[in-house]
Amino acid sequence: MEVQNILHMIGGEGDTSYANNSTIQRTAINKVRPIVEEAILDLYCISFPKKLIMADLGCSSGPNAPLVLSNIIDAISMKCRELNHPLPEFQMFLNDLPGNDFNTIFRSLPGFYEKLKEEKGVDFGLCFVAGVAGSFYGRLFPTRSLHFVHSSYSLHWLSQVPQRLQITLNGGSIYLAKTSPLSVFKAYLAQFQNDFSLFLKLRSEEIVGGGRMVLTLIGKISSDPSNIECCWEPLAQALNDMVIQGVIEQERVDSFNLPYYAPSIHELKDIIETDGSFSLDRLEIIEPGYFKSAQEAAKIVRAITESMLAGHFGEAILDDLFQRYEVVVAEYLSNEKANPIRLVLSMTRKG
Ligand code: SAH
Repeated sequence: MEVQNILHMIGGEGDTSYANNSTIQRTAINKVRPIVEEAILDLYCISFPKKLIMADLGCSSGPNAPLVLSNIIDAISMKCRELNHPLPEFQMFLNDLPGNDFNTIFRSLPGFYEKLKEEKGVDFGLCFVAGVAGSFYGRLFPTRSLHFVHSSYSLHWLSQVPQRLQITLNGGSIYLAKTSPLSVFKAYLAQFQNDFSLFLKLRSEEIVGGGRMVLTLIGKISSDPSNIECCWEPLAQALNDMVIQGVIEQERVDSFNLPYYAPSIHELKDIIETDGSFSLDRLEIIEPGYFKSAQEAAKIVRAITESMLAGHFGEAILDDLFQRYEVVVAEYLSNEKANPIRLVLSMTRKG
């Protein structure tokens, strides 16, 4: 099953929406801000382009979507004031899968533009935001048309559940677990290698020579299969409890696997080197903090996974599942090892 048919964050602005349950992702954007600023200012100060064409891939909906643009505008405005230079025009393409709630983003734009004018004054240059619906595992933009690409918390989502998993058993696990056979580890890694190298190839076609890209994604500390993060373990445990109590069938859990992979630094570097079209300027580990409470964990994980779980198990089980999740996840919150790392890559398009 292709991810674009099963994955979308909960839309709107209600209590369970992604908009209201994405504080960890927002903290990550704030922590990565200096790296984004460094990349965009380097790029800008080389040729002072009159317009900056940028894209945020996997923007979701809610307040995080325009945040990166607003940070970029702040950095460039400050630089232009310092150099007594006119501001460029800004174009930001916000991209996500077609099932994303773009309407909530579009509705927030008049307020966003208004705030820009208020904060930056009447001489503020022009800023254009557009939505682009489609998978970043396909071409999204014309050849050599982008100066800057940003993506946060999105590239650990694969284009599909590794196909080999349909014939390989992964027990009652929904992602890599200590009990997963080696073939499952290999299938996940192969799918990530395939997807991330395709992503680099496509972006290398779309980004101008000297253009920059900053990517933040969930990663793991080591490639050693026995040393895995257990971020999804509580969800598998809650599902398996429901199997034991006869609420769902074993077969349903066995056939559910997440289209997700957290790569190691080594795995990422390998793919970037093999592709060869980007130089890796920085690779950093950031700590945006973990869930503050079991309740917060349940809400955040639900806002992300609900569309996939509902598609596979049916909506009826969700309240029960996440009540169980809240109980199970509590045990993991004090375990530092359960907290996966976040990797930030800053790259330049060669040529
Ligand atoms: N960047 C936002 C959203 C992160 S949530 C933030 O930091 O808060 C991850 C987003 O990636 C989701 O909205 C999901 O729909 C999107 N996504 C996953 N796979 C994608 C793909 N192949 N193409 C485009 N978007 C994708």
